[in-house]
Amino acid sequence: MSTKQHSSHARATSAKVTHGHQTDNTNTPGEAATSATVAAIPGPRSQALDAERERYLPRGVYTYHHIYPAAAAGARLTDVDGNAYLDFAGGIGTLNVGHSHPAVVAAIQEQAARYTHTCAHVLTPEPYVRLAQRLAELAPGPSAKKILLVNSGAEAVENAVKIARAATGRPAIVAFENSFHGRTNLALALTGKVRPYRQSFGPLAGDVHTLPFPYCYQCDHHPAAGDCCRDWERTLERTFLTRVAPEQVAAVIVEPIQGEGGFVVPPTDFLPSLQALCVRHGILLIADEVQTGFGRTGRMFAVEHAGIEPDLLLLAKSLAGGLPLAAVVGRAEVMDAPLPGGLGGTYGGNPVACAAALAVLDVFARERLVERARALGATALVRMRSWRERYSLIGDVRGLGAMIAMELVRDRERRTPAPAAAAALLTEARSRGLILIKAGLYDNVIRLLMPLVTTDEQLREGLDILEEALVAVSAQPDEAVNGAH
Ligand code: PLP
Repeated sequence: MSTKQHSSHARATSAKVTHGHQTDNTNTPGEAATSATVAAIPGPRSQALDAERERYLPRGVYTYHHIYPAAAAGARLTDVDGNAYLDFAGGIGTLNVGHSHPAVVAAIQEQAARYTHTCAHVLTPEPYVRLAQRLAELAPGPSAKKILLVNSGAEAVENAVKIARAATGRPAIVAFENSFHGRTNLALALTGKVRPYRQSFGPLAGDVHTLPFPYCYQCDHHPAAGDCCRDWERTLERTFLTRVAPEQVAAVIVEPIQGEGGFVVPPTDFLPSLQALCVRHGILLIADEVQTGFGRTGRMFAVEHAGIEPDLLLLAKSLAGGLPLAAVVGRAEVMDAPLPGGLGGTYGGNPVACAAALAVLDVFARERLVERARALGATALVRMRSWRERYSLIGDVRGLGAMIAMELVRDRERRTPAPAAAAALLTEARSRGLILIKAGLYDNVIRLLMPLVTTDEQLREGLDILEEALVAVSAQPDEAVNGAH
């Protein structure tokens, strides 16, 4: 194996592995080294694995990066060829406490050695009850809460709709364009993007009514002053006249900030207005915080910025530090609507996943990760806004807390999306040792989902790489970055 450095960009060369603000100078097996060595990306072992992937996995299981992880710690990851990266994708927002946090690993090991599974419908594991209690205490709003644990974000969405229908006796659901709620049939029916999610999978579940989300940057009215045209509200009024009576609507489901949709931050009065409208019509409000939850936006839950208490709050991703676990947190009387046996599943509330989640909550408190999200985000935002002054490719920089993104455009005046430039940027960043992912209706948004344990030094390093990648993409000939994606 060749040991050339990542072009000229091998930055951190000392073998430090960092969690939070503590630094461990010993590199033991399983930890991610910070030195960046090896010739090609993907290297030979990744290429060999990729050939097997292509042979045995369906093409529908997309991957951004054809490199294969060997070890990871905090915000660092090493691939099977020995290349080292900063990981600013964090398993799409699953690793807010970082890769393999020692406290989470210890909790998993301890619980696995005790017992791994009983099925909550046979014998409820104590960690299920303890986690429910912690989440009930943590969830925003004064109402008493109950918690259902399931395995994935999509499953939380499915169950929230079931619970809302049982609680209201109403069938219809209102969702938003450009949303993402998961890949199961009902979650897809609520998801507001056709390609690749909805396409070829119909018929999808019915009685779902869709409103435009206030995506001000790409709105036809594109207000220079930032005033929202409130198109969503007018569309809802029209929907109540033309499609479904408000008394037939069980719930509105909304992401406080659209994640897959491109980190679209709505105007501050959007969620309070939506909730007031729901209350007026006896409709339940479901906040899908699968991506925005667990400190990402600089509050534990994004709805806290708006000062609202949703009827149902959906959590997954960073809840269990990478183990499959999701939750529906809801007002107790709403959660108790389904009959005994109407909710659950074989694996929901698995004790190992719950033990991991309890450790995640301790890490959040001990390492003050919610505050850390604000600090990381503030630094990234200042830097990215300064790039907007210099690189015409950047149309918009937006975000809240550590949920920051930039939208790439070919033409600022028309806001013409530049998806090929976004794809090129990912490649340029990866070749320099930074893992990033995209998002957006037009596939042209570069989003940051770095672990919240990312150190100041790592953040600077990651942003330096991102800027170098931006310079490289900006210098590429038009046809290379503006071609078909
Ligand atoms: N809801 C939101 C807001 C999401 O971002 C996602 C996944 O990205 C989901 C639901 C689906 O979660 P999962 O992939 O765990 O099913």
